[in-house]
Amino acid sequence: MTEKIYLSDAFANENEATVESANENGIILDRTVFYARGGGQPGDSGYLFLDGKKIEIKDTIKEGEEVIHIPTSTDHMLKNGDKVKCQLDWDKRYAHMKYHTAIHLIDAVVNMNPGYQGLITGSQIYEDRSRVDFSMEDLSTDLAISILEKANEEIRKKREVVVKYLTRDEALSLPNLARTKPGRELINSLEIVRVVEIAGLDQQADGGTHVRNLSDIGEIKFSKMENKGKNNKRVYFTVS
Ligand SMILES: [Zn+2]
Repeated sequence: MTEKIYLSDAFANENEATVESANENGIILDRTVFYARGGGQPGDSGYLFLDGKKIEIKDTIKEGEEVIHIPTSTDHMLKNGDKVKCQLDWDKRYAHMKYHTAIHLIDAVVNMNPGYQGLITGSQIYEDRSRVDFSMEDLSTDLAISILEKANEEIRKKREVVVKYLTRDEALSLPNLARTKPGRELINSLEIVRVVEIAGLDQQADGGTHVRNLSDIGEIKFSKMENKGKNNKRVYFTVS
């Protein structure tokens, strides 16, 4: 099982590791800072270094409990037991962190305002933008912009973002911790649940990487809205 350093320290951007398995399709290490794609957050890219050689990693995925580093070139020559140094493309990863926290914040704003009568049903993070899918029939562009403005008001309060761990029973006693059916089923299957908390505002069961304070996000800006069906409006935004 790969030790996932990013779960306990989202700000670690390099580490030393030992190769546990390597072939042309993927490299498994004993421990890694590379985030494996999941929960709307893309897998990390970056480099592995071995004796002055530099192996480019273009994506990272999960397979069971292992993290698979996908090399750009299939002739990387790594073998079991090699000692490597991992280094992330940090600018990209940090952008993903800002967007991930921003999505939790927007979700929180929608949830704490019953007047919106809606839910966020999906999201995707990119390096330079994100989208959130709102299940809201009468979401107008003006309302979407005002939801994002409410999120910006919370950013200006400089709320802290912390990771904590709850037992399954503690997690199940918080009905809002997972807002989708698969999320609730996942909690039921876990002994310990990782929770990302925006202090005083929001708690969500989550395996992603986040900034330390809402103020690290900067400002959320509305880009555009697409109609994806009667009850589904897709809102794109950027952060700066
Ligand atoms: Zn999340």
